[in-house]
Amino acid sequence: MTAKIIDGKNLSVQIKAEIASKITALDKAPCLAVILVGNDEASLVYDRNKQKAAQTVGMDCEFYHLEEQTKEQELLDLISRLNNDSHVNGIIVQLPLPKHLDTKKILEAVAPKKDVDGFNPVNAGRLQSKDSEAFVSATPRGVLFMLQSVCSDLSGKNVVIIGRSNIVGRPLASLLLNHDCTVTVTHSKTKNIQDFTKNADIVIAACGCPKMVKKEWIKDGAIVIDVGINRIDGKLCGDVDFEDVLSVAGYVTPVPGGVGPMTIAMLLENTYDAYLKQNGIVKK
Ligand code: NDP
Repeated sequence: MTAKIIDGKNLSVQIKAEIASKITALDKAPCLAVILVGNDEASLVYDRNKQKAAQTVGMDCEFYHLEEQTKEQELLDLISRLNNDSHVNGIIVQLPLPKHLDTKKILEAVAPKKDVDGFNPVNAGRLQSKDSEAFVSATPRGVLFMLQSVCSDLSGKNVVIIGRSNIVGRPLASLLLNHDCTVTVTHSKTKNIQDFTKNADIVIAACGCPKMVKKEWIKDGAIVIDVGINRIDGKLCGDVDFEDVLSVAGYVTPVPGGVGPMTIAMLLENTYDAYLKQNGIVKK
């Protein structure tokens, strides 16, 4: 078997075109506010990409680039101002924050109705309790979209997720459970992860370990989603050994060009949804 590629770049272009067309029908453009504290290079690149993508679909994007030494209260004041600014529909605070800032406190300060990253515990709790009001974090939402693009019925599928972080593994587990999958979450203390993955219909790697997942870990025809973004000698790679699993998997996502572009597309979709909710418009 030679795996088919799930092309996240292509899918994200289609999603963004649909968002752009939906935005032309609105009275005004939705607005996303992006806050970056400090000069982390990867974060700067991510935020520039988010700005560019927002502009491409006709959204307003306000970028707040604060100094590394910004005081916590200053950041909280900015978030509070944006929470109360009716022009702003979505707010994201780029992680990781500098060490002197309390990440939990900052994420809790973003109003749940504008929390398009879904990192506020209110949205995390809503997702866990299968409340449709939840903003689902962009990466898990992107993964779900990719799975649905190749599998019309996720019900009863055995899914193994590698990684249990608050931004990927945990929300993904809740989301897939809400779609009637049978979900196993593995992590750095799990013994013999391949004993779990090799029986799975769907394997999702989100652990930040370059090329860890090999073909021996994968059942014939399984869907393999690679969330990981790593660099080896400056070259990007995922948590899955892409070339190796090609001969076994049914579908696989590449890195780059897989989950990454989907994450940005879903962030825009969440911002569009936030606009609709804040303006009392029912989504069709
Ligand atoms: P974290 O470092 O927050 O979490 C990593 C998780 O993987 C932890 O739960 C950890 O276990 C687990 N883990 C680490 N090593 C192993 C191992 N050897 N075996 C099994 N599990 C292991 O990372 P994130 O969740 O933030 O990100 C994961 C990856 O996804 C990274 O490469 C990141 O760059 C990428 N990413 C990509 C995005 C995209 O848009 N494509 C978005 C977000 C992240 P434990 O809990 O026990 O420590």
